[in-house]
Amino acid sequence: MNSAYGLYIHVPFCRHKCIYCDFYSTTHLADIPRYLNAVMQEWESFCLNPPSGGFAISSLYWGGGTPSLLTPRQVQRVLDRIHQHGTVPADAEITLEANPGALDDAHLAAYRRAGINRLSLGVQSFIDHELEFLTRIHNTADVRRSFSAARRAGFDNISLDLIFALPRQTVAEWKHSLLQAIDLAPEHISMYGLTIEKGTPLHDGLTRGARVSCDEEVQREMYLLGKEMLEAAGYTQYEISNFARPGREARHNQHYWAGGPYLGLGPAAHSFAEGRRWWNVRDVQTYCRALENGEKAAGGEEILSRDQLRAEAILLGLRRRRGIDLAAWERTFAETPRALFSAALESLGGCEQQAPPFQDAPSGRLLTCAAGHLALTAHGILLYDYVCRKLYECL
Ligand code: SF4
Repeated sequence: MNSAYGLYIHVPFCRHKCIYCDFYSTTHLADIPRYLNAVMQEWESFCLNPPSGGFAISSLYWGGGTPSLLTPRQVQRVLDRIHQHGTVPADAEITLEANPGALDDAHLAAYRRAGINRLSLGVQSFIDHELEFLTRIHNTADVRRSFSAARRAGFDNISLDLIFALPRQTVAEWKHSLLQAIDLAPEHISMYGLTIEKGTPLHDGLTRGARVSCDEEVQREMYLLGKEMLEAAGYTQYEISNFARPGREARHNQHYWAGGPYLGLGPAAHSFAEGRRWWNVRDVQTYCRALENGEKAAGGEEILSRDQLRAEAILLGLRRRRGIDLAAWERTFAETPRALFSAALESLGGCEQQAPPFQDAPSGRLLTCAAGHLALTAHGILLYDYVCRKLYECL
């Protein structure tokens, strides 16, 4: 039987490197044509040696980097090649990440015609001085212009990314960005706390004392405000950082969180199937050279142990509203999760039997077991790392 794979294409090009970013990308845009040929080569090699039992693509995601730096013709060429060698259902979700500062309005209708049916706009903030602080190349006028242009081009499934917990950001500023995002009425909104990654200019600034990070208590307040406002506006929180109108949850990400297999094409892209994770080299030139020589662009691989797989099932399961499917756990790992986790559940103060996930439980408990799934309550979300650690201790 065919396995359903999520397909991820990493587009490692940006016009400029943002101070907080640790994704692999380069500003050497002249390499794009060579890179695209290598991506198609990598796809064909995968199709020539398919996984035993075959495969079909359930969703496709162009991430980056800045995929909207590609012209519609370039996107079309790769999609044609994907369709030529693989099976992609007509209704598959095909997302393109777009930067409002690198989104040619004239390109949008052509992307739509090429088969892109979902746009993920990296908005981050609706305040210009915050965008400047993040060294983004766009401003708030670009966001509004590109959002309207995307609607006119026929995109009826648009996601906006927002970042909170910027240094010196106030709760009022965060509320302003949320209100503006809600006002545009996208189908999906993601909100992420700013993470300070080692090796980024932002991290260096913090360690030199030139900047201050956002206070933890304020971060928590911002998160809760975002959750409350988005839910009040009719978005359902289906993952810790993700909110969607009914039926507009990101299918690609859900597949990934459910532990489904995925194939990543492009430099630094990761893949996972049947307990094995492998990834490509983190360098465009080395990646292209390998593919041009008919070799793999492998950067490394690992076979996940049973304990690692169980830890990932906890980590990914608890991020989702539906939580950890206890029956699926039993089938996959041949053990009863309630018995396995009993010590952790006890030390965490027990588990609600019926409280809805991601909502306040009157008892203040962190976990709920409604409908055969172990999930976080609203209190539990705020202690996600702690709850995961407690469950790991039982493995
Ligand atoms: S545009 Fe996105 S991927 Fe590129 S540097 Fe900025 S944050 Fe990173």
